[in-house]
Amino acid sequence: RDRRGFFFFFLIEIEKQQLNKLSQEMARLSQEDGLTGLANRRHFNETLAREWAIAEREQQTIALIFIDVDHFKPYNDTYGHLEGDRVLSLVGKTLKKMAKRPADLAARYGGEEFVLLLPNTDLKGAYELAQEVLQAIDNLAIPHKSSKAAKHVSVSIGLSALTPNAQSSINTLIDNADEGVYAAKKAGRHRIRAYPTPEDVILRREATIN
Ligand code: GH3
Ligand code: MG
Ligand code: MG
Repeated sequence: RDRRGFFFFFLIEIEKQQLNKLSQEMARLSQEDGLTGLANRRHFNETLAREWAIAEREQQTIALIFIDVDHFKPYNDTYGHLEGDRVLSLVGKTLKKMAKRPADLAARYGGEEFVLLLPNTDLKGAYELAQEVLQAIDNLAIPHKSSKAAKHVSVSIGLSALTPNAQSSINTLIDNADEGVYAAKKAGRHRIRAYPTPEDVILRREATIN
């Protein structure tokens, strides 16, 4: 009976270990975007909420870089959806390399839209990284003959940076980055825009001083 008890004890231990591994794997998968291996939208939202709370407490600036692939619908139409998937996967890999600090997070926000979350970073820092992103995607040199923005796959980038205060929320930060993308698209794509534009920021500061 002792031997049987010992055997069952081991069996249960092994099952426990397997269940542990499985639940760890499930937790990882629930945070990950399947195509690119980046953080998914849900994981991004959770991380942003956490980082926003830290920034609020420590009065630090938090920045977002929104990245939208230019003329991606025509890309799919020209080269096929599978090739399109390959491009998104490549863009994802490139962005993952650009999230260098431990607290930085690269995520797939949706379809052909990506985001870099940069805690404790101001607009200038975000702009410098955004320039590297724009260049890194150019360097992939993926031909895109139906793009009006460039001969290769390119991106439009929107920036926002905020130090949490009574007038701002997470939504303000996201909406501003989105406005930045919109402005970059409107100005011809394949470029970076911040919202509010830095001039606006200066004007607003002056308005509060006067
Ligand atoms: P813009 O320069 O204004 O951003 O134009 P766009 O064509 O990139 O934008 P639009 O929003 O019209 O189209 C986005 C396209 O992205 C359409 C959709 O089929 C494609 N897309 C979204 N998710 C995926 C995906 O997972 N795989 C592939 N292959 N395509 C995707
Ligand atoms: Mg889009
Ligand atoms: Mg697009």
